[in-house]
Amino acid sequence: MLRAIRIRPGPPARSLRGHPWAFLGEVDVAGPPPVDGDCVELTDPKGRCLGAGLWNGKSQIAWRRYSRRPISLDGALLEELVTAAVQRRAGKPVCRLVWSEADSLPGLVIDRYNDLLTVQALTCGIDRRLPQILDILQRLLKPREIVLRNDAATRKLEGLDQHIRTASGQPLAPCWMEVGGVQASVDLMGGQKTGMYLDQLDQHARVAQLAKGRRVLDAFCNQGGFGLACAKAGATSVLGLDSSEDAVVAARAAAERNGLNAQFEVANVFDWFTEHREATYDLIILDPPPFARSKDSVPGAVRGYKELNLRALRLLSPGGILATYSCSHRVTEEMYLELIEDAASDARREAVVLERTSQPADHPVLLNFPESRYLKGFIIEIRA
Ligand code: SAH
Repeated sequence: MLRAIRIRPGPPARSLRGHPWAFLGEVDVAGPPPVDGDCVELTDPKGRCLGAGLWNGKSQIAWRRYSRRPISLDGALLEELVTAAVQRRAGKPVCRLVWSEADSLPGLVIDRYNDLLTVQALTCGIDRRLPQILDILQRLLKPREIVLRNDAATRKLEGLDQHIRTASGQPLAPCWMEVGGVQASVDLMGGQKTGMYLDQLDQHARVAQLAKGRRVLDAFCNQGGFGLACAKAGATSVLGLDSSEDAVVAARAAAERNGLNAQFEVANVFDWFTEHREATYDLIILDPPPFARSKDSVPGAVRGYKELNLRALRLLSPGGILATYSCSHRVTEEMYLELIEDAASDARREAVVLERTSQPADHPVLLNFPESRYLKGFIIEIRA
């Protein structure tokens, strides 16, 4: 039997409609509060079960659902959930293996880089169960090494420390491995995110199909995922821009290692566009970081995205292609399309949407959890 807490009567909490979180202010805790990290049943004000979740009274998000039934995560369920998530990605050597709420494991993110794994514990409940999780992963996948990327700032909100270490305790040097047909330098202990932007791997391949014979600008290139794939597919030239020096160094090294003709420069993309108003490209990729991290930053983010798309549209040749993405969940697909329309109107360009793109299957959208629906993109052709 799990300890049960109730949703307070009052303004309807999102958890009553299927959202997997309950906020501290929404619940009535009768008696002493549960221990942080414990499994707790949540009920509606009438006592009907809404599911079982991980409790953390230190966080505003006090309850995160892992099951619709009132059962403990400890015992068989943890292994069942990890195994099911891994099986859903069977056959993918480089991918996100476990994605938090979307795999019913709130706060657990696991990425696979061939025989290496990275694990992030973003909630107290998952952090407490890391020894069991590492044990399950060792048995299931026999990885060469597991990197604990517990450096995310959100761990502070859960009352957790920040660190990066390996399961073996040995340091792990950056290494070369094949990612999407290109040798990439993978630095699991030092790279951004867990090393790479796995959510864009499918798009690297898709955009590369359009790159042959084109002059390509890969803006916000990170380690050059789009640009290198385009160079390999026969682009006439590739220029990648990123503000991170480490990322640009890795991109240049990868171009050399793969024998690809692609240039990478450290630059602020906004400044670069200001300084290069006369340049012409036939394919421009815009893949910026999330501009809207909070509700209040949405209007500023929309202005930033519009400015970028406007600048890119102005530099494209007739027949050119714009592949443009946003990973801010607060900027919806419709909002993003509208701001591109605004930009096309200002730039006086005639353009058509060839494709709407979305998250890859290893980052599934959990219904009733809009926070999991974050990545959207448009592939647009300039007619004139
Ligand atoms: N396109 C990449 C992922 C890009 S993530 C891929 O497919 O792998 C966003 C990138 O934008 C990060 O690498 C970050 O370093 C970079 N960045 C953030 N702000 C920037 C700016 N103003 N100018 C240039 N790069 C920026």
